Amino acid sequence: MITDSYGRIINYLRLAVTDRCNLRCTYCMPQDGLDWLPRKELMTYEEMLRICSLFVKMGVEKIRITGGEPFIRKDLMVFLEHLSATSGLKELTLTTNGLLTAPLVPELKRIGIQSVNLSLDTLDEQRFRKISRRDGLGQVIKTLETLLAFGIAVKINTVVMEDHNIEDIIPLVQLTKTQPVSVRFIEEMPFNGGTHTISLKWDHQHILQFIREHFPDIQKTPDTPHATSSNYHIPGYEGNIGIIAAYSRSFCGSCNRIRITPTGIVRTCLYDAGKLNVKDLLRKGSTDEDLEIMIRAVLLKKPADGWDAQRLLSGQKSAHQSMATIGG
Ligand code: SAM
Ligand code: SF4
Repeated sequence: MITDSYGRIINYLRLAVTDRCNLRCTYCMPQDGLDWLPRKELMTYEEMLRICSLFVKMGVEKIRITGGEPFIRKDLMVFLEHLSATSGLKELTLTTNGLLTAPLVPELKRIGIQSVNLSLDTLDEQRFRKISRRDGLGQVIKTLETLLAFGIAVKINTVVMEDHNIEDIIPLVQLTKTQPVSVRFIEEMPFNGGTHTISLKWDHQHILQFIREHFPDIQKTPDTPHATSSNYHIPGYEGNIGIIAAYSRSFCGSCNRIRITPTGIVRTCLYDAGKLNVKDLLRKGSTDEDLEIMIRAVLLKKPADGWDAQRLLSGQKSAHQSMATIGG
C-alpha cells in the first residue's frame, strides 16, 4: 500500500503516453500546438510497462491512460493489451478526445476496458471547430455511440467556458435523459500552455445553479470515495450529471491519485511541478527496489491540496503548462 503523509492511500495512477494531439483545444494549448517533446524524451512502452507493474505491486489498483491524445501514439493498442494483463491491476481505463477511437472500440472491449472518459465540450459543429480548432464532432459522436453499443461505460468531460459553450450545458444535460452516460462539467483550469488567464465565472456553484434553474427537481446523489465530481441525477433520466471543481479544488482532501507525465516525471499533484523522473532513473539502471524507495519518499511530500502545491512552487516552472504535457 502507498500512503502519503496525510494518511491518504494512493491507488490510482494516471499515465500520459504522449503530449501530442490531433486537436488544439483553446483551454489546453496554443493554436500552433506545443513545442512537442522529442521522441527520445518520451518513455518507451517497455519503460511504461515496468513502471506500471512496479506501481501495481506497490498498491495501485487503477490506471488511466491519457495524454495528449493517447490514440495518436503508434501501437497504443499493443501497449494497452500488455498493460491490461498486469497481474494485480483491477481497472484499466482511458481518456480520449474520441477522434480516432470508434474503430478501436471492439478491441478495447476485448482487452477488458470497462469505462472511457470522452471529452466533448459541445454538440454543435461550429462551436466544436471554434473550441478545438479542428473538425471532428461527427467522429466523437460515433465514438460515443460505439462505446455505448459495446457496453463500455462513458463519462463525458465538458470544460465550461464563458463565450464558448454555455449554450451547450442544457443540451448536454438533456443527453442524460436517454443515454446512460455521466456528463461531467469541469471548471476551466489555467493549464493552457500560457495562452490566456482564466476567469472563473463558471465555477462549480455557478454551473450547478444554472442547471438547477432549468431542472429544479435535480437531486444530489452519493459521491463515491475519492470522486472528483459532485454528482446529481434528474428523476427519470438514464444518465447522471457531475460537476468537477477542478480549479476550486474542493476534493483534494480525499485525493488518491498520482500522475506520470510523458517524459516520466512523477507529479504527486496536478498543481505541483513534479519531483522525480522515473524514466531517467530507469535509464541509469535503477532497480525496482531503488525506484520504490524514491517513489515512496516523493509521495510523502504530496501536498495537502492543490493550493498548497501551488504555494510550494514559488516561482518554479509551473502551473501554466498545458494539460497535454502534464497528462489530463
Ligand atoms: N486528449 C484527451 C482528451 O481530450 O480527452 C486526453 C487528454 S486531455 C488533456 C484530458 C482532459 O483534460 C480532457 O477531458 C480535457 O477536457 C481536460 N482539460 C484539458 N485542459 C483543461 C483545462 N485547462 N481545464 C480543465 N480541463 C482541461
Ligand atoms: Fe488535445 Fe485533449 Fe488537449 Fe484537447 S484537451 S488539445 S483533445 S490533449
